[in-house]
Amino acid sequence: QWIYLDGEFVRKQDAKISVYDHGFLYGDGVFEGIRVYDGNVFRLQEHLDRLYNSAKSIMLEIPHTKDEVKGLIINTLQKNELSNAYIRLVISRGVGNLGLDPASCARPSVIIIAEELAIFPKELYDSGLEIVTVATRRNRPDVLSPKVKSLNYLNNILVKIEASLAGVSEALMLNDQGYVAEGSADNVFIVRGKELLTPPGYIGALEGITRNAIIEMAKELEYTVKEEPFTRHDVYVADEVFLTGTAAEVIAVVKVDGRVIGNGKPGKETNCLLEAFRKRVVKEGVK
Ligand code: PLP
Repeated sequence: QWIYLDGEFVRKQDAKISVYDHGFLYGDGVFEGIRVYDGNVFRLQEHLDRLYNSAKSIMLEIPHTKDEVKGLIINTLQKNELSNAYIRLVISRGVGNLGLDPASCARPSVIIIAEELAIFPKELYDSGLEIVTVATRRNRPDVLSPKVKSLNYLNNILVKIEASLAGVSEALMLNDQGYVAEGSADNVFIVRGKELLTPPGYIGALEGITRNAIIEMAKELEYTVKEEPFTRHDVYVADEVFLTGTAAEVIAVVKVDGRVIGNGKPGKETNCLLEAFRKRVVKEGVK
């Protein structure tokens, strides 16, 4: 496996960064997770737009144009002979001194990892996930916007830890007012009849690219889609619940905090959207 690291391809075992990289020292940087289906990079432009917006927000200047980054992603896929893959694109502040000030970092580090990925086993797509809600709160949008996909993933990691302590593989985070925000690395939808609800961006969630694709597709399929705040109660009494994300795609949730959702099996509408999503991903993208 070849990793793109600051201008060259290096073997996985040699792909190392300095202990003085501020991405390592402080989580100072931004990233994207991107999927490739049959050689099509899914919604690459949206991922790059989000990456550059995240970078702009934290005043990190990416040392490449978007077209250059596109080219580097394609080269990384070719070098690894991958046509179905998960790509991790990381831009950190780069190597500096021990002070916080990013001014000591001469140049951002650019890293692209491409590999095959199966985040949840296939059985879980058939059975659906059991999840819990956790004490960790999403950071407030006015502190550091959750729209910034930064290398600071501590609250997301705490969500994962709380989930495993509860014996489940995923969990939902609430915001500081108690509204449901999102999962550890995925967005959440609830279904009521032919109506879909997902928390609006201002609640404190990343505006997921999979989320946006599902909203678009659901509208085409004549669902009513509302971006509206909702509480845990609304989740418990929903007909269906599902999560969306680049890695997870669309996955049904069948139990939340011990409450069985619907009949305890992945719902009809979730399956319909998952099927539509799987058809869509191979059709779209940049070859
Ligand atoms: N929320 C968080 C915190 C994430 O890290 C991710 C993953 O990227 C998502 C939601 C889902 O977003 P996307 O569909 O763009 O992968």
